[in-house]
Amino acid sequence: MARAASPDTRTTCPYCGVGCGVRAEMQEGRIIAVEGDAEHPANFGRLCVKGSALHETLGEHGRLTRPRLDGVDVDWDTALEAVATRLATTRDAHGPEAVAGYLSGQLLTEDYYVANKLFKGFLGTPHLDTNSRLCMASAVAAYKRSLGADAVPCNYEDLEDAELVVLVGSNLAWNHPVLFQRLRAAKTRNPLLRVVVIDPRITDTCELADLYLGVRPGSDARLFTGLLAWMAERGKLDRVYLERHTRGLDATLDEARRDDVSLEAIAADCDVDPERLETFFYWFASQLHVVTLYSQGINQSSSGTDKCQAIINCHLAGGKIGLPGAGPFSITGQPNAMGGREVGGLANQLAAHMDYDSPGAVERVTRFWSTASLVPRLPEAPGHKAVELFAAIERGEVRAVWIMATNPVVSLPDARRVRAALAQCPLVIVSECMADTDLLEVADIVLPASGWSEKDGTVTNSERCISRQRGLMAPPGEARHDWWIISTVAQRLGFGEAFGYTHPAEIFAEHARLSGFENAGEGRRCFDISALADLERDAYDALAPIQWPVTARAPQGTPRLFEDGHFATPDGHARLLPVAPRGPLQALDERRHCRLNTGRVRDQWHTMSRTARASRLMNHRAEPFIEVHPEDARALGLEDQALAQLEGEGGEYRGRVRLSPAQRRGEVFVPIHWSDRFSASAVAGDLLAAHVDPLSGQPESKHGAVSLAAL
Ligand code: SF4
Repeated sequence: MARAASPDTRTTCPYCGVGCGVRAEMQEGRIIAVEGDAEHPANFGRLCVKGSALHETLGEHGRLTRPRLDGVDVDWDTALEAVATRLATTRDAHGPEAVAGYLSGQLLTEDYYVANKLFKGFLGTPHLDTNSRLCMASAVAAYKRSLGADAVPCNYEDLEDAELVVLVGSNLAWNHPVLFQRLRAAKTRNPLLRVVVIDPRITDTCELADLYLGVRPGSDARLFTGLLAWMAERGKLDRVYLERHTRGLDATLDEARRDDVSLEAIAADCDVDPERLETFFYWFASQLHVVTLYSQGINQSSSGTDKCQAIINCHLAGGKIGLPGAGPFSITGQPNAMGGREVGGLANQLAAHMDYDSPGAVERVTRFWSTASLVPRLPEAPGHKAVELFAAIERGEVRAVWIMATNPVVSLPDARRVRAALAQCPLVIVSECMADTDLLEVADIVLPASGWSEKDGTVTNSERCISRQRGLMAPPGEARHDWWIISTVAQRLGFGEAFGYTHPAEIFAEHARLSGFENAGEGRRCFDISALADLERDAYDALAPIQWPVTARAPQGTPRLFEDGHFATPDGHARLLPVAPRGPLQALDERRHCRLNTGRVRDQWHTMSRTARASRLMNHRAEPFIEVHPEDARALGLEDQALAQLEGEGGEYRGRVRLSPAQRRGEVFVPIHWSDRFSASAVAGDLLAAHVDPLSGQPESKHGAVSLAAL
C-alpha cells in the first residue's frame, strides 16, 4: 500500500538576514520543536539561540484574533469595507498622494508584491516605503551608484574562501550568529584566514579578530578613503582591473587626497593606533581574496551611502570583487529586506528593480499590470522615504496610512513625534499579529494578520537566496494572510480583475514574470528570476533555496555576480566615486556630551513582540540598560546597576547602568528593543534626531548625542 507523503515542514527563520533553513517537528498540528535544516545553504543545520527557540514563541496567547474598527471588534466584512471606503474617500477628496503605506522586512515577498501593486499601481500614490529603509538603504544606494544595480555580489561561501575578512559596523556574533559560526569554523579549518574587526565597541565578534580597530564613531569613510590613498601611494592598485572594468579612479583619488593621507593623520582622525592601522592597510592591500562585510554600523548614518561607497572603492581599486572570497558584502538586518527591494518596496523604486527614471519603466509596468478593463495609474516620481513619510503625516499632507508588520512609534528616530503625528492622522490602518503593541493605540482600523509558521511565501536573504516560508499551522482566530487582506481590499476598491489571487504561488509567478518582462536593461538583468515564472503550485511548494538571477542561462541560480568584470551600468564599467568624509549630524555639545550608539542584543528581535514570549530569551538581557565606560561612570558617580537617564533630541531613556570597558570613553550604548509596553521611557528612538542620509534617506540611528545622569 502506498504511504501518504509526509508534509514538508521545512521553512525559514523569521529573524535576521542570514535566512537560516528550519525544520519543524509537528504534533497534532502544532510545532513542538525546531532544528536547523541540514540541507539549507545558509546554515547547513545550524541555528542560533533565537532560531532554536522559535517554537517557544508560538501560541494564541497575546495574538490579535479579530478585526477592530474604531476600538470595537467587528467581522472581516465590516473591517474590509471600512478600509476600502475610507481609503477611497481620502484619495477622492485629497488626491492619491494623501494615501500612503508603510511595510516591513518581516513581510513575505508575495505580500510586498501585492502591496506595491495596490499602492503604486492602482491607488496611484508613490508613498509606499518600508522599515527596510532603516536597515540597508545606504548599501542599496551605493551598490546602484557604483555597480549599476542593487545587487550584492558575494555569497556566504565567500566568507569561508577569503584570506581576509573585514567586519566593519557589524557585531556578527550577536546579529548574524550563524554566519559568525560559519566564519569561526572556516578560521578553524584555515588558520591563515585573518579577521579584522572595525567597531567603536569591543563586541563578542572580536573573539575572532586577529586585529581590532576601535574607531571613533562615524570615521569609517575617512578610514577607507585613507586606505585607498595608501594603496595608491604604495603601488597596491590593480591597474589592469581598474583600466578594464572601472571608471572614476582619478577623481576619487583626488578627493581622497584633499585630506592629509599620512598614516598619522588618518589614525588621529579615526582615533586608532597608527601601527595597527598600517597593519590593516597592509593586510587589505596585499591580499586579493578580501571580503568586507558591513551592516548597520555603516548604513545607519547621515553619510551612510558615502561610507558604503568608500568600501566599494577600495575593492574595485584592488580588483577584489567578482572572485571567490572577495567583495564588498552588505548584510541585511531583516529576514526579507532583500525580497522587499526585489518587488519595489522602497519609495524610490517602482517595481522589480526598476526605478522611476529607468527608461520606459513607468509605461512598461503600466502595461504589465493592465487587465482587459483596468489600466493602472502609476505615479511618475518617487515618494516619501520613511522619515519624510511620517513628517508628511505630521504636516497633514498624508491623511491615510496603512502600516503592516512594523512599529514605527518605537523604531523610527524622534519616535514620540511619529506617535503624535499618527495620533492626529485621520486614518491609520494597522495589520498586525499581536494584540498589544504601542502602535495599536493610534490605529483606527486593526487587521489581524497571520504570522511565521502560519503563512506561505518566499523570503530572500543577504546572499540573494530565495527560500520558502511554509504555512504549517492554522492562524489563530480570524487572523488572515497579508496578501489576502490586501487583495481583498483591492477588490473592494474596484480592482478585482488585477487582484484575483487565490494562492501566493500565483503572486510569485507574476512577480517572476515581471522580473523578466521586456528586461533588456543591465541593472534589471541582475535581478531576473523569469525562469521561475512557470512554477505550478506543487513546484512552488517544493521550491528549494536558489540565488537570483535565475534565468534560462542560469536555471540553478547565480552564486556570485560580476565574475566577468562586466557590471550593471550602461557601459558595463563599475564606478569609483569621490567620497568626502563627514561626521555625524547629531553633534555633541556641552549639554549633550555623550555619543550614543544603538543596536540589538543577542537574544531579542526588534520590538520583542515575538522573542519576549520565550523566557529563555529574556534571560540574556532582562531589561533596558545603558552601557557606560567605568571611568565615565565614576566621573558621574554612577555605580554598576544604578538607574540612570539619557536625554536626547526627542526625549529621555531610562535604564540600568552596565559598566563596560568595551565601551569607548564618552560613548554609551543602548538596545533598540524596549518600548513603553515593557518599561517606561526606554525607547531608543526617543533619543535620536531624525537626520537622514541625503541619498538613501536612511536615518542616523548610530550616532545620537545625549546627556547622561543618575536618576
Ligand atoms: Fe534565525 Fe538569524 Fe539565528 Fe539564523 S542566524 S537562526 S536566521 S536569527
